[in-house]
Order: sequence, then C-alpha cells, then structure tokens
Amino acid sequence: MPAEDPIDLGEKDQNLLAAWRILFENEYSAEIKDLEGLEMNVFGFEVQHDVMAKDKFLKTEFHLNPARTLSMGDKVLKEQFDQNGVLTRPVVRVVNLSENYHRTMDELRMRDRDRLLSVDVKIAHVSHPYGWLKSASYKCRDCGTSTEVKQRRARERESPSVCRICLQKSLDGIDTKDIPIAHFYPRPNFRMLIDECYYEDVQDVSMRQISYNKDHHLIQCSAKFELIGTLSDDLVGDVESSSFMRVNGILRVQPIPTRNFAKDTRRLLSIDVISVEPLPIIDTK
Ligand SMILES: [Zn+2]
Repeated sequence: MPAEDPIDLGEKDQNLLAAWRILFENEYSAEIKDLEGLEMNVFGFEVQHDVMAKDKFLKTEFHLNPARTLSMGDKVLKEQFDQNGVLTRPVVRVVNLSENYHRTMDELRMRDRDRLLSVDVKIAHVSHPYGWLKSASYKCRDCGTSTEVKQRRARERESPSVCRICLQKSLDGIDTKDIPIAHFYPRPNFRMLIDECYYEDVQDVSMRQISYNKDHHLIQCSAKFELIGTLSDDLVGDVESSSFMRVNGILRVQPIPTRNFAKDTRRLLSIDVISVEPLPIIDTK
C-alpha cells in the first residue's frame, strides 16, 4: 500500500508508532532476526496480547481502536523486517486475547460494534477467495495532484469530491465572505489511477457457535448462532471448513447481502478477523 505521509500523523499516532517500535525491539527482535531471508509475499506475525498489554498505552489503544493500532503495528514491523533483511510484508496478528474479550455469539448486539472479541467456533463454510479495492488513487485532471481514498468493503466506491489545490486556486483573490454557498458548485474532475490502487485478498467464513467441556469434548455446535467472518492477507486459504477455531476479531455491522434497494437500513453483524487459533476440540458425536 502507498506509504502515508508521516507529516499527516498526529501526536497519538506518533506515540503509537514509538510504542510498537519499543515492543518489537524489546520482545521480538530475536524472532524477527530468525526470519532473515524469508521470501514470502505476506507473513502473519503473532504478537501475544499479554506481552503487548505490558505497555498500558498500547493496551488501551488496541482496546479502543484496534484496526488503527494494528495498521500502525504493521508499518513499524515492516521497518523492522526491512532492517533485518526479511523480504516480506508483515501483518501483525495479536493472539491469546485476555479473558475479558471472550464472548459467545448469542450475546452479541449492534451496540457491540467495533469492539474487540474472541469467539470459539466451528467453521461451517469457507468461500472462494476474492479481492476488494481497499484504497483507490485518483489524479486531478486540472492540476495533476494525486489523492488516495480509503474504501469500505461491500460499500459504494468513494471518490474525492473536490481538489483542494484547485479549490484554493479558484478562491485566491476572491472575497469569499459573501459568496452564497448554495450557488457555489465545485465539481469533481478526477481520473482513477488503476495501477496505483491497492487491492486486498479476502475470504469469508461462516462460523457456528460451539460449547465444550474442560476436556475439550464438544458439547454443542449450534446452527442457530452463525456469523460471517472475513479473513484477509496471509489468513486467506489457511482456514479449513469443519475445523474448530478461536477467532479473534473486531465486530462489524454490514448491510444484509440480499438487500434489493440501495438505502435498505437493515444490518447484520459480522467479524473482521484479526487472528485465528486452532482449538483442540474432540467431536465424538
Ligand atoms: Zn487539482
């Protein structure tokens, strides 16, 4: 993905980058060095939640804003990989979330959206891998400035509404105080740069709630509580149907797939998977 301009990062993001850097250097430097020479396209790097939680700031940010915190971790780990001759793009996979994140599917509600959670599941079905446009690049046809617009999966593609540089140029020298806004229509004039767009590999899995006893014998697998989870990057192709997994992720709200009018307000819960851990469940039924 194209690198973000570091000048755009606020103080909190700078602190996040610094916290990740300290974590990787203090806790994972030997593991990173061991990967030297690895030539994979993408590599999931496991970080233990309790190790990360030693840093209170990182722990809190991961709790409040997990997606942003992980993307910062990816950036820092990429630097560390580059410095150690590991020629691959890393994805931070936080595993073994503390017990207060453990949930069951039947208790999840819309109000839990964007929260972190761990659920124990049986994978009922795995879709074919597909891609989506995660970030689109556009070029202003007037001045040539490029802008990047982050997209949302399964939503309409968004494009920039106005070029700031050109807008500023048109406003320079005009007394803007009394312009009636209703009569002022800057129109977008952009071209999408297909080659510079970033696509992410993903795969959907349907997951069923399970319960098991302390010896890991399956007690129940319920088709009544089924949720869709989305795997990305290195996890694509890694999860098999009928396997038992602890899925760690972020609860999301999606439009229902069968919507037949654009502004349908009905929504379903789903999980953006941040990591998976195989569970040693014994199914004697
Ligand atoms: Zn422009």
